[in-house]
Amino acid sequence: MPDAQQAISRLGNLSYVSPSVESPWGTYLAQVDRVVPYLGELARWAETLRRPKRALIVDVPIALDNGEIAHFEGYRVQHSLSRGPGKGGVRYHPSVTMEEVMALAAWMTVKNAAVNLPFGGAKGGIRLDPKALSSRELERVTRRYTSEIGFIIGPQQDIPAPDVNTNAQIMAWMMDTYSKNVGVTTTGVVTGKPVSLGGSLGRVKATGRGVFVTGRDAMHRLKIPMPGARIAIQGFGNVGANAAELFSMAGAKIVAVQDHGGSLFNARGLNVRALAAHVLQHGSVAGFPEADELGQEEFWTVEAEVVIPAALEGQINEVRAKLLNAQLVLEAANGPTTPAADDILAARNIAVLPDVICNAGGVIVSYFEWVQDFSSFFWSEDEINLRLDKIITGALDHIWATSTRQRVSLRTGAFVVACERILEARNQRGLYP
Ligand code: NAD
Repeated sequence: MPDAQQAISRLGNLSYVSPSVESPWGTYLAQVDRVVPYLGELARWAETLRRPKRALIVDVPIALDNGEIAHFEGYRVQHSLSRGPGKGGVRYHPSVTMEEVMALAAWMTVKNAAVNLPFGGAKGGIRLDPKALSSRELERVTRRYTSEIGFIIGPQQDIPAPDVNTNAQIMAWMMDTYSKNVGVTTTGVVTGKPVSLGGSLGRVKATGRGVFVTGRDAMHRLKIPMPGARIAIQGFGNVGANAAELFSMAGAKIVAVQDHGGSLFNARGLNVRALAAHVLQHGSVAGFPEADELGQEEFWTVEAEVVIPAALEGQINEVRAKLLNAQLVLEAANGPTTPAADDILAARNIAVLPDVICNAGGVIVSYFEWVQDFSSFFWSEDEINLRLDKIITGALDHIWATSTRQRVSLRTGAFVVACERILEARNQRGLYP
């Protein structure tokens, strides 16, 4: 692919990244290349999109429960701070790399601008397997990591949140550690906290809710009826399970689910609540009795109206894009579709609702949490959901209209809307000195 190749040549400009077309950073760069022709005069600033503003690597040493010392590698990347403080989650996963965190931070910049939040983009991660650590060890890792990145985060600088394998408890430890270090309880330094510590009602379910609200809107525009719509979901964690529940309540059928442990199929529709209870008990969807087992690749061939990748990046590649048997892909995960797969899906007339709008519900409610913490005035869950629905459907409307006007994919349309805002801010602020 010529533009992916172009992206790789640009990757060569950063000495700390090793190039690969299918990698998350390669995917992001190819997406940037596709938007540049639509940016007019602002394209002069496009190179700022291809470089993180700041990337920090930290050593995270802890004493394990058995007394041994273990070292973990941690990252915090602030891709852009042009429109406000950095904002983005922290991921704990054995395969986390600097390059992956750079891409996730960049997608946060685009997402925050696509829905017009007053934030830049950031992301963090620690390379570890959380299942191999005890709760006490996870607490020590979290506290040490927070201390190590402490000088670049803060409620006005950069505000972490949960992502894959991190949750409200981890945010509580981060908030406590930061607060101890600065000497003031600072609830606004992270979002996704427990409600008892300044967290927001509705935050836990917000990303899944956003996937449902934008997905319902997209289905309506594409004339896919909700009642009886067949849906296949990869990833049954926070985002996948909450989205599944809302689609199921609206009358759709969740016919297939895949997670790290296995894949399931039930033509009549899975009982989402029973499946969630099974995952809570067994740690995976594998072994759920009311379904047939599917092969890992077979999952991508299931006949459905909608496919929702809600796990990790790069899951819909060239091979799987040719197999998909659906009309619409809702990108609940970040970066689940490679640029080559995007082209195949477009040629096959399969619509893709891009991550930067589809999964923006989480960061929108994180924004509400940050605002509530500053004012120490908390809103009801109904108020939060109403405001969430209004912002996300308004943003989708704007993106859809832009894509139609420019005759580009929804992804490029979302990037046009977002990158104009990011680069306009960059242009207005100018360079210092
Ligand atoms: P989670 O840890 O709660 O769940 C992750 C799910 O993915 C689990 O079901 C896990 O089994 C599955 N999974 C992991 N590896 C897999 C593999 N190789 N094959 C199949 N399934 C696999 O994480 P989450 O918070 O639900 O996040 C899921 C995605 O949504 C990520 O891409 C994340 O960046 C994105 N996202 C999350 C939020 C949020 O608020 N949590 C917000 C925006 C985007």
